[in-house]
Amino acid sequence: MQLKNFGRNQTLKPSSAYTPADEAEVLEILARHRGQSVRTVGRLHSWSDAVLADGVLLDLRQLDGVDLQSEGDQLVATVGAGCQIKRLLEELGREGATLPSLGLITVQTIAGAISTGTHGSGRNSMSHYVVGVRLARYDASGHVVVEDLCEGDALRAARCSLGSMGVILSVKIRCRQQYKVQEHFCEYPQLSDVLEAESAFPLQQFYLIPWRWSYIAQHRQETDAARSSLAWLYRLYWQLVMDHCMHLVILFLVRWSRVHRLIRLTFRKILFVFVVRNWRVVDRSDAMLVMNHEAYRHIEMELFVRRDQLAHALGFVEEVLKVAGGVQTALSSEHQERVEVMGMQAELVELHNKHCHHYPVCVRRVVPDDTLISMASGEGEDWYAVSLISYAKPSRREGFLKFTSFLAASMSHLFDARPHWGKVCPLNPDELRSLYPRFDEFRSICSTFDPDGVFQNRWTAALLDPDASTGVSRQDPSD
Ligand SMILES: Cc1cc2nc3c(=O)[nH]c(=O)nc-3n(C[C@H](O)[C@H](O)[C@H](O)COP(=O)(O)OP(=O)(O)OC[C@H]3O[C@@H](n4cnc5c(N)ncnc54)[C@H](O)[C@@H]3O)c2cc1C
Repeated sequence: MQLKNFGRNQTLKPSSAYTPADEAEVLEILARHRGQSVRTVGRLHSWSDAVLADGVLLDLRQLDGVDLQSEGDQLVATVGAGCQIKRLLEELGREGATLPSLGLITVQTIAGAISTGTHGSGRNSMSHYVVGVRLARYDASGHVVVEDLCEGDALRAARCSLGSMGVILSVKIRCRQQYKVQEHFCEYPQLSDVLEAESAFPLQQFYLIPWRWSYIAQHRQETDAARSSLAWLYRLYWQLVMDHCMHLVILFLVRWSRVHRLIRLTFRKILFVFVVRNWRVVDRSDAMLVMNHEAYRHIEMELFVRRDQLAHALGFVEEVLKVAGGVQTALSSEHQERVEVMGMQAELVELHNKHCHHYPVCVRRVVPDDTLISMASGEGEDWYAVSLISYAKPSRREGFLKFTSFLAASMSHLFDARPHWGKVCPLNPDELRSLYPRFDEFRSICSTFDPDGVFQNRWTAALLDPDASTGVSRQDPSD
């Protein structure tokens, strides 16, 4: 049996696969397969090796119950692990509630979303709001046990665990009353202007437009104002123009024309007709904060940097994009020197003219999470997630993957940039571990919960192995 993920860059070859009907059946399957390797997946919307499975595969899509309760002054939902975010939002919506934080899409499962630190903009990632995780695993004598983790570092680990602590059966997550968001677009030549607007529009996200090198801000704020009378038209505009027309133009440029000059010209001069500026619209948060981003197949890497590194990091990304796109042969002298010191000059030269970037570089602010290893974990300044997307056909991604490999390695050294656990993640175990001050605590909790490593795949096993070092090389872009 073979399964592919959304991005068609990962192939799972499980020896057997189950979609159990309920918790009892999950436990029965675990008992039957004691001693064998077991991985649980959600909707396979991760691009990283986190989804790999070559033993027993569990898909908990039938465990999708939602139960919303008040606990003191908090709204808390207990959600079956396989429940998709869209179903959860529908159920919460019936009770006038919603999630405090949302990613761009809603097809992921709740367990899958939290397991890789899924986030939106202006709030913590979803993992941060998790107050309980119900987990099935084996105890030291190999018996199947179920535990409810609701405090301490075990909970912090389970909030983002890469599938490495056992099978998540359900998740308890803090919810809030439904709310509305006002949104409008503006263009700025300078990053500083966009960041200045953040205090007025705390939920905003913004885009660095390649080849035009300006910023389009999607200003967003929570509001008590009534839903706009033209909100329906705005939704239609998003669906037709942004989700489809704009993406079809990009697909044409990347998959059929492949002329770099035309890509650059379109981004510099034409793509802007799609963005209606200064149209202020108020709508429900769960309509405003998401889009149909899964409509067309693509692949993505996302790097998290702290606020004090953002300007420098985006400047670096811009320069590397110019080299990869073939319009420059070297970086500015300051960056060039640092690349040479890192011993990455040959990789940079190799990148020249290999990838003409063809998608806005989305930047989202993520407030620090109370977790051990989600990308935004750790106290201090806010994080900014810088996303790099390619719509090239799966067979033509080599240039993009070379580019992501170079960028992840260089930016992790220069800016302590952390790659999203669920997206293209081209660093080796040593490099990844070094970015998380609490990784050792995570590792030791995983080894307590899964002493025989039966819930690991080869990628998580290497991450959790203290002896797996730089000997394990970075993902080969041509793999
Ligand atoms: C088009 C698109 C848009 C996206 N937008 C965003 C975004 O806006 N923000 C963002 O942060 N991310 C985004 N992502 C990434 C996505 O949210 C994550 O990769 C997420 O983990 C996918 O969830 P899934 O249900 O498909 O889980 P999978 O990809 O199937 O699994 C992810 C991980 O969760 C583990 N897992 C799943 N279920 C269980 C369980 N029951 N028990 C134990 N472990 C489990 C798996 O083993 C695996 O390690 C996007 C992805 C795509 C394809």
